[in-house]
Amino acid sequence: MPSPLPEPDANWALFLDFDGTLAEIAPTPDSVAVNGKLPALLERLQRTLRGAVVIVSGRPLDQIDRYLAPARLKAAGLHGWQVRAAGDAEPSLPDPPEGLDKIRTALRAFADSEDGIRLEDKGISLALHYRAAPDRGPDCRTAAERAAASADDYEVLDGKMVVEVKPAACDKGKAIETFLAAPEFAGRTPIFAGDDRTDEHGFETVNRLGGISIRVGGARPTAAQHRIETVDAFRKWLDTVADGLDSKDDKA
Ligand SMILES: [Mg+2]
Repeated sequence: MPSPLPEPDANWALFLDFDGTLAEIAPTPDSVAVNGKLPALLERLQRTLRGAVVIVSGRPLDQIDRYLAPARLKAAGLHGWQVRAAGDAEPSLPDPPEGLDKIRTALRAFADSEDGIRLEDKGISLALHYRAAPDRGPDCRTAAERAAASADDYEVLDGKMVVEVKPAACDKGKAIETFLAAPEFAGRTPIFAGDDRTDEHGFETVNRLGGISIRVGGARPTAAQHRIETVDAFRKWLDTVADGLDSKDDKA
């Protein structure tokens, strides 16, 4: 029986995955529907937590911004390869490690030869989506491993109906630590919520730092300390966090 989630604290720093955590997974990565109340809720949390709300996603930042508009939050995109710490500055993107072209060519050839498999080119990483051909997961994994092995400094990351080849140097845990090192996050307790294997580094990191880890959905073993069953239930919990912090503010 998981322990109940602690009372919200104004010293929390919220790190939130997007797909499967703030928004339901959609049949294709570009058909995600965001609950209409979510952007305002995130902006409200951003105010009460004095800016300590960060989206941590495998998506590039422009997609996150589009889905959460008009909210524009601190964010780590592309598993932390792209970091926007301060409100408005657009981060420059470091060059990918060598070998990405070779990986791209191999994965494109694989995706083109298979029905129902779509290659997503994120510029620094490449993802094979197999939601339309769920039984092809192991083949995608093999193709991704082979492609990753053709270059140094790349690794394979499993997600939900997706397998991604990405630079090994970044992960969501490291991204969270980057934010926590900034002066404005000093003394804050990190909370990280995510839903799939790509979030496990994040869970492990906040556990190690005395924070709170939350898995949204799923039954698979996880390092997360807490579980919330659905995206809806998680959003409702964020609502109670915002309400709880506001009422503390009123009493202060
Ligand atoms: Mg996710």
